[in-house]
Amino acid sequence: MSNEIDLNKLATESKVVAAGRPAKQPDGALNPPIALNSTFHEGGPIGYGRYGNETWSALEDAISTLEGGKTLLLSSGMAAISAVFSLLPEGSVVVAANNGYQGTTTLLKKLHESEKLKVRFVNLANTDETVAAIPGAQMLYLESPLNPLLEIIDLPKLIAAGKAAGCGVAVDNTLATPLLQNPLALGADIVIHSVTKYLSGHSDLILGSLSTNDSALYNRLEQSRRYGGAIAGPFEAWIALRGVRTFALRMQRSQENALELATRLSKDGRVAKVRYPGLPTDAYHQMAKSFMKGFGAMISFDVNGTVDQVDLMCNSSRLITNATSLGGVESIWERRRRWATESASVPENLIRFSVGIENVDDLWADIEHAFTAAKIK
Ligand SMILES: *Cc1c(COP(=O)(O)O)cnc(C)c1O
Repeated sequence: MSNEIDLNKLATESKVVAAGRPAKQPDGALNPPIALNSTFHEGGPIGYGRYGNETWSALEDAISTLEGGKTLLLSSGMAAISAVFSLLPEGSVVVAANNGYQGTTTLLKKLHESEKLKVRFVNLANTDETVAAIPGAQMLYLESPLNPLLEIIDLPKLIAAGKAAGCGVAVDNTLATPLLQNPLALGADIVIHSVTKYLSGHSDLILGSLSTNDSALYNRLEQSRRYGGAIAGPFEAWIALRGVRTFALRMQRSQENALELATRLSKDGRVAKVRYPGLPTDAYHQMAKSFMKGFGAMISFDVNGTVDQVDLMCNSSRLITNATSLGGVESIWERRRRWATESASVPENLIRFSVGIENVDDLWADIEHAFTAAKIK
């Protein structure tokens, strides 16, 4: 009898520990090697280091266990997103967020301006507006929660509407993570991750992934990676898999901290508005509850202060780091509009806060210190 476990029968907390392991055998390793090879003896299935790698495969298997389907690892989240758009014939119509992750929005604006794609930018949080934009589109590109306003879009309804119209549906699942939602199970064609964020979780590498249930689509995406050349380094893949082992634990703790801090911020007179779907008063709370398994660990909040004061606040924290990015063990915040490419719909006084796994009272004390240092009353 085999002593290999059926990963599909496990809960996420167990999958992250058990997935992507080499086969069990006497003196066999528990962990995959960091496979540093540009080429291989002829006759095997890999052939060349740009086509495949043993360390990538271990991480790909682990992500597939979490998201379903089959996974391709790429050099960054943006490489994964670019690979998706590279499949579309010139002039294809794409429906996408007008205020989504700024890297994606900027890329789509450039593809639109150069007439490679025709992009219909919509407010994905407005289901009717989005559904009305679908007829004639080749791709519906979704993201939820939207980054950085943390609006929850009606993922089940929009995925179904896209598929009913014969449109390809891709979902960026970076912020929600597979612990909270599985877009492939809702019928999406492709799930995208910036593995840089929660899956690896330590702010020490850049990687991206694509997962799909459709083997023909997988093959086209694999060809795009092979000839686009945006491949991952084996070391990054290895360290990311090490991060995946604690992904569920980190996410659960960060999420608990986020709910507590969002609750405290929402009762604080120095804050004009807290955007966190876990708050019962949040406009997206019911939507999130209807299909997500949790509310995530990102909070955005609008401070009652000037741009200079909000900048000073971000710079004055001592435990929380003033930096961009998210999804690490360490709490990070930034005034989001400091980026010229950020959507104008994001208020100037909005702080995007990626809540880490530190002690929640230490985090709150740091927030209090930052408010005081910036003279925000
Ligand atoms: C960071 C991020 C990306 C881009 O990922 P990189 O790994 O930085 O290339 C894409 N989507 C979302 C939602 C992100 O947060």
